[in-house]
Amino acid sequence: MMALGHRFADEFPELCLPWNAAQVPEPSLAIFNDNLATELGLDPGRLSGPEGVGVLAGNLVPEGATPVALGYAGHQFGNYSPRLGDGRALLLGELTKPDGRLVDIHLKGSGRTPFARGGDGKATLGPMLREYIVSEAMCSMSVPTTRSLSVVMTGEGVYRDGIEPGAVLTRVAASHIRVGTFEYAIRLGGEDLVRRLADHCIERHHPDSDDSSNRYLGLLSAVVDAQAVLIAKWMSLGFIHGVMNTDNMTISGEGIDYGPCAFMDAYDPSTVFSSIDHGGRYSYGNQARVATWNLARLAETMLGLFSDDTEAAVEMATETVNGFVDRFAQHWNALMAAKLGFAEVPTNCEELVSNLLTAMHKDRLDWTRAFRSLSGTLRADSPGVSDPIADDGSEQSAELSEWISRWRAQLSDSGVDHQDAATRMDSVNPVYIPRNHIVHDVLQDATAGSLTGFEELIEVLSDPFTERPGLERFAAGSSAQFAASFQTFCGT
Ligand code: AMP
Ligand code: MG
Repeated sequence: MMALGHRFADEFPELCLPWNAAQVPEPSLAIFNDNLATELGLDPGRLSGPEGVGVLAGNLVPEGATPVALGYAGHQFGNYSPRLGDGRALLLGELTKPDGRLVDIHLKGSGRTPFARGGDGKATLGPMLREYIVSEAMCSMSVPTTRSLSVVMTGEGVYRDGIEPGAVLTRVAASHIRVGTFEYAIRLGGEDLVRRLADHCIERHHPDSDDSSNRYLGLLSAVVDAQAVLIAKWMSLGFIHGVMNTDNMTISGEGIDYGPCAFMDAYDPSTVFSSIDHGGRYSYGNQARVATWNLARLAETMLGLFSDDTEAAVEMATETVNGFVDRFAQHWNALMAAKLGFAEVPTNCEELVSNLLTAMHKDRLDWTRAFRSLSGTLRADSPGVSDPIADDGSEQSAELSEWISRWRAQLSDSGVDHQDAATRMDSVNPVYIPRNHIVHDVLQDATAGSLTGFEELIEVLSDPFTERPGLERFAAGSSAQFAASFQTFCGT
């Protein structure tokens, strides 16, 4: 069925607790990811059959597996919690993919564990389908992410705002080691445990760090870079994670835990999507800054590994963490240059982008539609003044028209063929993203018993860059009223 190893559980008994999932009364599949199953070397037919669904629901433990609840700490909205951990999740074990790489198979919503504190250990259908939608959309847009193999409905009612259908998500990840795992390890087992954890992460996620003169500093640097790539990609797509706590930041560099997250509609850097994020800590425009803050928490746990001389260790750590700023800028500029059709990053990239963003902000343009429609202004081969890239059909502002003229001229000056640029732009500026109002509607329908809309959305998002007739509503912006009132909630 699924041959799972238990390497993490064996190597780090301090960091996990053997535990079993709660039995659920009536498991049935809401969705099963055939492609991912095949990619993992699993038999989709068997895994989506009755016995497989038993495994995906947590009712059956695959032979030889040792499920564990993972311990971790974390800074949530800046406040330290020494013991969070998998309160409603389990690592079933590690699977070896056909390419030889290990991935975690993890259940979310599988019942209370000793880390549950006051929680009921359960998950509901809407939020688990939301994670499925976002992770699979991310993957289709080449953003590093955990994946979703399935969502099983448990046949059980779970109490939230009212009674909702219970569900279990099966998540596939390079690993579930987080910044919060290091924070947990330093407190529990000191430098020795952190060293073992770091060695494990180097081997599993960042083998190149082994070549650096100081391998642990090399690991920190690799994590800094992986996170810089991730945040730059998120932001280039207008994505806001919403809860970038240190327990939601992986060492592998995959995005994880898509709770109160969303793709922005109208561009506004102060947009937040968590109902409890009053200070804007995790707003769109603050994500790079908060990533650096989180990486500093990681670095603190590793100080003793960098050098015996504390002062020197702090200096090395600070320099490496601060390196995020340049790396992020590099990745961001490369991504934005590509979104604007340049074959190479122009020297004035930052200024060009910032001027566009200022105009977009003023005009309250939809992030995704604005970028996608820029290729149209190249194809039309007109100065763009009359091309409505404003999402509400209103007149394009003079500022934006001027920007478009300057940008077109610069493309020409740098020898870029406009038609080629338009084609390249369409391969990086998606038409279809999980739009808030559509996700909201399909999850509401799913909770009420109809999965048709959800399935259609998954199909649309599997090919985000190819515009197809008949799918216009998936590319349209939401009503201003919806956008103004929209927030996802932390109570997932
Ligand atoms: P999250 O917001 O999903 O990243 O979770 C933060 C922490 O709360 C983690 O330790 C979770 O395991 C825990 N948690 C969230 N929801 C529940 C729940 N329903 N029951 C038990 N623990 C939960
Ligand atoms: Mg989490």
